[in-house]
Amino acid sequence: MARAKYDCLKCPGYCCSYPVIEVKDKDAERIAKHFGLSLKDAEKKFFKSAHGYKRVMRRQKDEHFGKICQFFDTTERRCTIYAARPSTCRIFPGEGHCGYYDFLKFERAGQEDETYISTTNHSGN
Ligand code: SF4
Ligand code: SF4
Repeated sequence: MARAKYDCLKCPGYCCSYPVIEVKDKDAERIAKHFGLSLKDAEKKFFKSAHGYKRVMRRQKDEHFGKICQFFDTTERRCTIYAARPSTCRIFPGEGHCGYYDFLKFERAGQEDETYISTTNHSGN
């Protein structure tokens, strides 16, 4: 297996700012269970139908990316439901490279600042 060339712990969580984080039936059930909620209550509270998908994550405001997944801790920059996160989050970005992380590393080297956050903004979606 190829070794991952990205480190999510050093990243501000760009992938969690995507407008579409799809939540499949099994994911919704797992997340509802995680919070001890009925599926119906979880549907209302956490998800919405948008962008042609039956169910995507609701989002919250974010200082860097405009908007980000509601389950993202915007101070610690990490997922708060890691064990229960949807399959779409589990498989991303696959083995090897993360395009955003490559961009981030390049920008941080250029700025000579290891904390620099490269932004492209999804807030309009
Ligand atoms: S954008 Fe890439 S490096 Fe950053 S959290 Fe997502 S997968 Fe990890
Ligand atoms: S569930 Fe977690 S990993 Fe998935 S988008 Fe939301 S904060 Fe990110």
